[in-house]
Amino acid sequence: MARIGFIGLGRMGLPMARNLMKTGHDLKAFDVADGPVATLAGEGATRTASAGEVAKGVDCLITMLPEGRHTLDVYGRSGVLDAASVGTLIIDCSSIDLESARQAHTLAADAGFAMLDAPVSGGVGGAVGGTLTFMCGGSADAFARASPILQGMGRRIVYCGAAGAGQAVKMCNQIMAATSMAIAAEALVLAERLGIDPKIFHEVITASSGGSWIMQNYPPVAGLAPNAAANNAFAPGFTTALMLKDVKIFEAAAQAAGVPSPVGAAATQLYQILHDQGAAGLDYSSVIELLRGRASRTPAAETRP
Ligand code: NAD
Repeated sequence: MARIGFIGLGRMGLPMARNLMKTGHDLKAFDVADGPVATLAGEGATRTASAGEVAKGVDCLITMLPEGRHTLDVYGRSGVLDAASVGTLIIDCSSIDLESARQAHTLAADAGFAMLDAPVSGGVGGAVGGTLTFMCGGSADAFARASPILQGMGRRIVYCGAAGAGQAVKMCNQIMAATSMAIAAEALVLAERLGIDPKIFHEVITASSGGSWIMQNYPPVAGLAPNAAANNAFAPGFTTALMLKDVKIFEAAAQAAGVPSPVGAAATQLYQILHDQGAAGLDYSSVIELLRGRASRTPAAETRP
């Protein structure tokens, strides 16, 4: 079993780190917030006071942070790459923009470390259940070394190609999830207005050509699927702020590649409005409230990026 350092113990990182411990790995953990570090220390992880300290003496260092600037900050200013031992494998599971991912690979390579970008899909339910899908970019050798570790947190570990390839696949998944959610919400609101019971609508659509992963597993209406944030007044889950970050990453990449994205652009606009109306800290499935013409239910909800 490996000695693993884990930085970023949020909604995803905490259950992922927990699963690594359950698999038998030794864990050192750090987050800028004390709460989750204390929780994990109570379950057997080694508590550390800084990101640099986590990196000392581990075989593998995993980050699960909100955005590219956080990953670059941890690799650079926080001194993680300076503190890591020779041979440490670096894995970034955060969903970040391509440019930051490539910069992170360059920083790691310049410091002599193998690195993998390995963003995930499957949500908090997948993180808790250890059923995430990992999309990996980097060298085949780094992928081979990372696979047994990632298997402790996921069900599908897929090699997507060279540095940044995991992020390329992830951003495409995100625009599809964002648009799927928006169109499911639109259709559900109209069906409601036309007097259709949402349960009947859900039963039909999940067995029809309009069905989707979102509709099946994460519909924006309460009482249709067990893990939906809609069951819990849109407590995240996956925040609108993070979804807005992801659709903007896709839009920027599409623009840079000269690929038209009319559907993605419409979804980006919709999530921007949702975000600006006070739903940044709510689950992105709260987009249905916008389409119903309701203001955000909890304007005091957190608004971190
Ligand atoms: P989160 O906001 O719940 O967690 C992020 C954690 O990182 C927080 O605990 C925060 O304190 C910590 N952090 C921020 N800056 C830090 C720093 N410099 N050093 C140490 N810790 C720092 O976010 P999340 O929902 O866990 O998402 C994390 C990443 O995973 C994001 O890139 C997100 O897009 C992606 N993701 C999330 C989901 C989901 O359903 N929540 C699903 C797939 C992918």
